[in-house]
Amino acid sequence: MSAGTVAAIVIVIAAGVGLLIGSFLNVVIWRVPRGESIVSPPSACPRCGHVIRARDNVPVISWLILRGRCRDCGEPISRRYPLVEASTGVLFGLTAWHFGLSWALPAYLFLAAVSVALALIDLDTKRLPNAIVLPSYPAAIALLALASWNPGGASDWSALGRALLAGAALYAVYFALMVVYPAGMGFGDVKLAGVLGLFLGWIGWGALVVGWFAAFLLGGLFAIGLLVAGRANRKTGIPFGPWLLLGAAVGIACGQAIADWYLGVL
Ligand SMILES: [Zn+2]
Repeated sequence: MSAGTVAAIVIVIAAGVGLLIGSFLNVVIWRVPRGESIVSPPSACPRCGHVIRARDNVPVISWLILRGRCRDCGEPISRRYPLVEASTGVLFGLTAWHFGLSWALPAYLFLAAVSVALALIDLDTKRLPNAIVLPSYPAAIALLALASWNPGGASDWSALGRALLAGAALYAVYFALMVVYPAGMGFGDVKLAGVLGLFLGWIGWGALVVGWFAAFLLGGLFAIGLLVAGRANRKTGIPFGPWLLLGAAVGIACGQAIADWYLGVL
């Protein structure tokens, strides 16, 4: 098989896994903020209580076949469910395209899944639950250690050291920002920044700086856009978590390239 064929197969498999993970994330997004278990009881219709059948739980497709309604009572099912599944599938496919078949891929697929869950929970509840953010630290360190070990290839333990330093640095910077400007961000943002620093730092210092800057740039432009459109005033609370996550995605995808270009211009 050619390298291109392998890459295409990896992308398709990752996208398929992403659809299934997206289905699970719908459960996480609904239950974790409510303090409910994510394994039991099985998903049921909130109106008639019928447990969702396996054939009605196929990502995206079941929603389309059922035309967005419960099979038993016809209660509308939010289009957000298939959208979360499709978005996770696309994000997983893009992550596989960027990293290829590598030991770094599991780490960044994990980040993709956590990002979808945290972005939507923050938009819903303006909170970033400890139940997701705190276990992400050991998970990220373990997965990035695997990526640095790179079994079957050359190990790069300096990348893991850089990740740990970057995680601590981003945590410290956001902690300072929270102390200086508590209205702008909460402790949840600080804790998430530490996790994102690990993933950005593993890529490189350029990725870290661009990821950090992109969060403020994108979040700031969005806030200005809302003010200009008259959809918000200076007191409207805009959750910062989604911008942290989006900024990190920009930093991971093209931060190192942007930083190298910028240093080349100087
Ligand atoms: Zn029903």
